[in-house]
Amino acid sequence: MKTKEIIAEGNKYVMNTYGRLPLALVKGKGARVWDAEGKEYLDFVSGLAVNSLGHCHPRVVKAIWRQADTLMHVSNLYYIEPQVRLARLLVENCCADRVFFCNSGAEANEGAIKLARKYAKLHHGPDKFEIITAKRSFHGRTLATITATGQSKFQKGFEPLPGGFKYVPFNDLEALQQAAGPNTCAVMLEPIQGEGGIYPATREYLQGVARLCREKNLLLIFDEVQCGLGRTGNFLAYQLYGVEPDIITLAKALGGGFPIGALLAKEHAAAAFQPGDHASTFGGSPLACTAALAAVQVLLEEGVIENARVMGEYLKDKLNQLAQRHRQIKEVRGAGLMLGVEVEDKGPDIVNRCRERGLLINCVNNNVLRFLPPLIIKEKEIDAAIEILDKALGG
Ligand SMILES: *Cc1c(COP(=O)(O)O)cnc(C)c1O
Repeated sequence: MKTKEIIAEGNKYVMNTYGRLPLALVKGKGARVWDAEGKEYLDFVSGLAVNSLGHCHPRVVKAIWRQADTLMHVSNLYYIEPQVRLARLLVENCCADRVFFCNSGAEANEGAIKLARKYAKLHHGPDKFEIITAKRSFHGRTLATITATGQSKFQKGFEPLPGGFKYVPFNDLEALQQAAGPNTCAVMLEPIQGEGGIYPATREYLQGVARLCREKNLLLIFDEVQCGLGRTGNFLAYQLYGVEPDIITLAKALGGGFPIGALLAKEHAAAAFQPGDHASTFGGSPLACTAALAAVQVLLEEGVIENARVMGEYLKDKLNQLAQRHRQIKEVRGAGLMLGVEVEDKGPDIVNRCRERGLLINCVNNNVLRFLPPLIIKEKEIDAAIEILDKALGG
């Protein structure tokens, strides 16, 4: 099918939930993708932080290929070797002790919400159920996770929303201190807010939040669905901040392009889940876990995280240089290869002009250009992207 036909049929048969661009990608390799007409693009969207190893990484492709031919799915009624191996690898590389596998970020956060409530019920009685989240946060599209999301635009039209959530301004410790009451059981935050516009937490804030949680017996949940798994130049983003959460959620990059999510927890929290409390038919399948095992091994063994750190600095410097020449750039912020460029307005126009010139980026809130290149990106590819962006920003 050609692009025109794919678009026409897509508009007819697929539910109209995405503001899609007139582009149909049919092939990818490394940091590049191709559309149905064979036009090449540099991909600085990476499937929204999914394709961190670039498209079709050979180790991930081979692992999927082999496992698909061996065993794709069995029930969690049985032990699953790739699931056990992946859980162990994750636990050995972070502060958590146990893992539950699911299929997406929203599901991982649903699991985190359930685990926090269950823990609080067990240890502190029936009145502790409230979860505090941040304004501008994003935690997913299920009913509970749009409610956890501190942005009303994701909630409108879906009321009544589940109860038990409260919102505070991000990076404001005093507001959190005041909000945490007798019903509060947990605080859930993205160390770097993604969909909200790339806003990193400050070190003082997260350290203060962790202290407050200890004092008030609250579980600390970090949603690292977007910022985790090497994106910031650390394996997980919490490692940038010198604090340890009780619960961590992952998805996006975990499967190297294959769908998988994970809920990780320290032993005391994880122990609140008993057989029957939580489940997912597809969660932790042999195929998904084999893909993720290969992806996380590549991430840890092939210098990918170091590259994200070095190239993140390089890209940030280049964007700051552009900011000196283009007055419409108001701020460059973020960490590693999770960077946002706040412009005065008309972000979508800049995104379109970049696309026409062969660079894919996206835009959040109309005024923040988001850069999420694969973590295997090279200096030359960043130079090419910057040249395109420079032209797209105009004179
Ligand atoms: C993308 C995202 C989610 C939702 O993940 P899905 O896999 O789309 O359900 C949750 N939290 C954060 C921080 C995200 O960026």
